[in-house]
Amino acid sequence: MSRYSRFLRKAVLPLGSRLAGYGDFLPYLESLEASQWWSYDQIQALQNAKLRRLIAHVYEHVPFYRQVMDQRGLKPADIQTADDLVKLPIVDKKALTQHYDAGLRDHSIPRKQLIHATSSGSTAERLHYWTTKSQKAKKWAGLFRWWEMVGYEFGDPYVTFQLAPNQGFKGWPLVGRLEWLLLRHHWLSAQEMTDEVLAQYVENLRAWRPKLFRSYASTLYYLAKRMNEAGLNVHVPAILTTGETLTDHMRETIARAFAPGEVFNEYGGDGMQIAAECHEHQGMHINAETYIVEIVKDGKRVAEGELGEVVLTNLEATATPFIRYNIHDVAALTTAPCACGRGLPRLSHLEGRLTDMFVTSDGHWLTVHQFTAFFAKVHSVKAFQVIQKEVDFIVIKLVVDDHFSQADHQRIIDTFRGYMGPNVRFELQFVDDIPTTPVGKRRFFISEVIQGAPSKV
Ligand SMILES: [Zn+2]
Repeated sequence: MSRYSRFLRKAVLPLGSRLAGYGDFLPYLESLEASQWWSYDQIQALQNAKLRRLIAHVYEHVPFYRQVMDQRGLKPADIQTADDLVKLPIVDKKALTQHYDAGLRDHSIPRKQLIHATSSGSTAERLHYWTTKSQKAKKWAGLFRWWEMVGYEFGDPYVTFQLAPNQGFKGWPLVGRLEWLLLRHHWLSAQEMTDEVLAQYVENLRAWRPKLFRSYASTLYYLAKRMNEAGLNVHVPAILTTGETLTDHMRETIARAFAPGEVFNEYGGDGMQIAAECHEHQGMHINAETYIVEIVKDGKRVAEGELGEVVLTNLEATATPFIRYNIHDVAALTTAPCACGRGLPRLSHLEGRLTDMFVTSDGHWLTVHQFTAFFAKVHSVKAFQVIQKEVDFIVIKLVVDDHFSQADHQRIIDTFRGYMGPNVRFELQFVDDIPTTPVGKRRFFISEVIQGAPSKV
């Protein structure tokens, strides 16, 4: 550890986080740094102890769980291990948002300590829930543990690339500014990407020499693609992509722009830091001290290695409990040891969020991967977005350059026809720009029908 990093950890961070009310941050981070090297058995024992504590608490203080457990004839003692979770119902965004302010609230926490939060949802309704400073501190600890896993230390310069800069210490502008300065945090706006902006960004990155560059996968892919086209390269040792599916093609494109840097995928959602890749790149380690992950298909758990929907239990959240929360992403689980030595189980395949996949009326899944790989080969297409308007009606928005030909047009139609089968209608729309979402993602796929639908995986 560098001296500067040690100074930050020993002096600045404990004081700063305690002043702002986030005193749980550093102790929790330290516990995560240690327990990641435990055996899987030890980690499971920790999970089960936390689960028992959680269930006893929500039975006492969260009306929804008192009612559900009473109806099912369950007492807290009936939930001893993660395997017992199947006795409780699976909930989703809709249920949480509907009940978060009454039935699904921890009534032992004074209202003034509750912080209202919404997820950065993409197309459908937002998730509303309560959190607390303690929960947020633990969430950040989970995040920083991932950063350390890919080589970052406190004090290393890092860059975030998104629509608006994050302020860690909301409501504490001075602490926030100080945090940026001390942590050498820089920000690039993902708002526009003209040639001048691109050149400026490359210059900034060269000057700041970040150890870590973090952004939504699609946004970073777009930047990297432009850099590659312009023959620009900046070495960044660790690139963390978040928020969306990272396809192989996207990963290669990003790796080339920041060569010889390494691309790591990080998986979070609905306010949770769930999993991230280590240097082995063999799946993503789950933040298992904080989350129990179940993989579920048609409401039932599937065997290790099988694909299904990700169902999460947040062991540290009670303000709004996330117990068996179906986040509607698709993945498989492995508990086999990783060559890095960490005992944390892994998501072996993060196939993508349901919004990165379409299902047609004949039950066929289309994945974002097929489309990014295809459009990477059509050079006259600068950007694209696929929108599923109805189950069997798809709109494809394209930004094309002067080289776009009738042959390209036909190739796109033929390819999509092949992907979707004869029953799907689709329409090509030529547009000047693909706007980013309010949080700065450039979504390739938008399904206006799939969000929240039960899985048919
Ligand atoms: Zn590993």
